[in-house]
Amino acid sequence: MTASDALRRSRIPLADGQGAIPAVGFGTLIPDPVATKQATKVALEVGFRHLDCAERYRNEEEVGAAISEAIGAGTIRREELFVTTKLWNSDHGYEAALHAFEKSQRRLGLGYVDLYLIHWPVSQLRDESWRALVELQRRGSCRAIGVSNYTVRHLDELLGGSSVVPDVDQVEFNPFLYQEELLRYCEEKRIQLEAYSPLTRGHRLRDPVVLEVAKTYSKSPAQILIRWSLQHGLVVIPKSARPERIKENSEVFDFEISAPDMSRLDSLGENLHMDWDPTDAL
Ligand code: NAP
Repeated sequence: MTASDALRRSRIPLADGQGAIPAVGFGTLIPDPVATKQATKVALEVGFRHLDCAERYRNEEEVGAAISEAIGAGTIRREELFVTTKLWNSDHGYEAALHAFEKSQRRLGLGYVDLYLIHWPVSQLRDESWRALVELQRRGSCRAIGVSNYTVRHLDELLGGSSVVPDVDQVEFNPFLYQEELLRYCEEKRIQLEAYSPLTRGHRLRDPVVLEVAKTYSKSPAQILIRWSLQHGLVVIPKSARPERIKENSEVFDFEISAPDMSRLDSLGENLHMDWDPTDAL
């Protein structure tokens, strides 16, 4: 099987039967719109079928254009793709969230979105927003719904007020921010955890343990970090704007990190947050 086939086939079923999510997705947090479209096209050519974008990234039109060109060229079918976007903080509340989703959907140019996430647990309004996401799923406008940057406390609160369990929680996760308690909680509740900033935004790719493990498997440090998250059962969404790295980040299905090496990587936790930290979000 080629690396591209392995990437396309590796899917994790969602607990509520709303399809399956490709285990390695392409993160699209790229500041320049032209570069975003170009990188998304490369990612699709390489075999990525899962694209992670957000209203906040101001890139839905570019990602949507790359998708529509690939579909137009006959190289990809819509059903193969898994497209995520997110509700931004200023759009919380029931009506506001419904309206924001419509705008995102229009910018993406898609008949439905595969996964819609609450980007951040905005205080007081998040429950109303969750109700809107449940309604969007009921209407079939999005297949799966979930949250992002929710801690165990935020998830507990959500589950206390709603019978609909989020399909996904997307959080910052890598060996330097190994969130074991959250992982166990999500496994128990059957919420799929997704790892953002899985490469520590490049800041720990020269860590001596990571380099040593990489040497053992003749893989790059980035591939080791992606594989580490996969072996913990997470969906992983690395970002790169460079074609050779986009390809490298997809080639993670032809090796397995041994249990002792996993333990060494597990022990690197230092509560490193490259992005925002939701621990104290009210
Ligand atoms: P990341 O994927 O951990 O790291 C991206 C950085 O690593 C870039 O600087 C990239 O540089 C570099 N890189 C990528 N592949 C590499 C490789 N093979 N070797 C060496 N360096 C490499 O960080 P991220 O973009 O923060 O996270 C990934 C995705 O998660 C985002 O794009 C976004 O979709 C999502 N995200 C979500 C949230 C949220 O709140 N839900 C927050 C942050 C991110 P080049 O581009 O120059 O290759």
